[in-house]
Amino acid sequence: MKTAVVTGGASGIGRAIAQRLAADGHHVATIDLQPSEYDFAYTADVTDREQVDTALDKIRSQLGPVSVLVNAAGLDGFSSFGDITFDTWQRVLNVNLNGVFHCCQAVIGEMVEVGWGRIVNISSSSTHSGVAGMAHYVAAKSAVNGLTKSLALEYGPSGITVNAIPPGFIDTPMLRSAEQRGFTNVEKTIAMTPVRRIGTPEDIAAACAFLVSEEAGYITGQILGVNGGRNT
Ligand code: NAP
Repeated sequence: MKTAVVTGGASGIGRAIAQRLAADGHHVATIDLQPSEYDFAYTADVTDREQVDTALDKIRSQLGPVSVLVNAAGLDGFSSFGDITFDTWQRVLNVNLNGVFHCCQAVIGEMVEVGWGRIVNISSSSTHSGVAGMAHYVAAKSAVNGLTKSLALEYGPSGITVNAIPPGFIDTPMLRSAEQRGFTNVEKTIAMTPVRRIGTPEDIAAACAFLVSEEAGYITGQILGVNGGRNT
């Protein structure tokens, strides 16, 4: 049994990934701003290294060394470029990019020690082409793809694979909140999606479960789009 940590595991995609990895036999712990139903659910802000380290120390003492990390915590952002304040820019980069940096760096040492590890970063399909009105979010998520590729090269020799999943249009509280605020239209997007449906958190969890499996050991540095064919 391996110990898997899922950030953003209290909601949406992260929650479905935590459920799937638990069903697949992992010991699962979540790190999220929100409490979740898991026995090993830690409330922490991924932008705060001290909080991340404290949560990970508790997880290690209860479940042993971390061998799987999924970074799913995220914060969306909708604003025309000229209206993005520097505070907002920094907050969006802080959660979506720096949070991934903190969590990866905090667990990579123990993965190197045992010579095995799996990291999956949840980026965004917006990185395929960019999105008008989401410059800060797309910049952060694109950087996550770059970080993923670089870590894959650096840690491949240590038995660690690092991949990204850029989800497209998944039915979660984040997407529904964007719809409520008028930033997206679910029905219109479904009509533009080749498979003609909205994605489910379980669609992402299935891809993630494969990437963290033993049999995906020859796959690293990849950006695996799960988007119903909207981005190819
Ligand atoms: P979600 O339902 O909002 O879940 C995200 C979770 O992350 C929430 O529980 C949130 O807590 C938590 N979180 C936010 N900031 C955090 C922080 N600083 N530290 C710890 N936890 C934090 O969103 P989702 O749709 O499942 O998104 C999961 C990931 O997929 C995100 O990275 C998102 O950018 C990405 N994504 C989603 C879609 C989509 O269509 N849904 C598309 C592309 C990419 P709060 O509720 O308190 O903020």
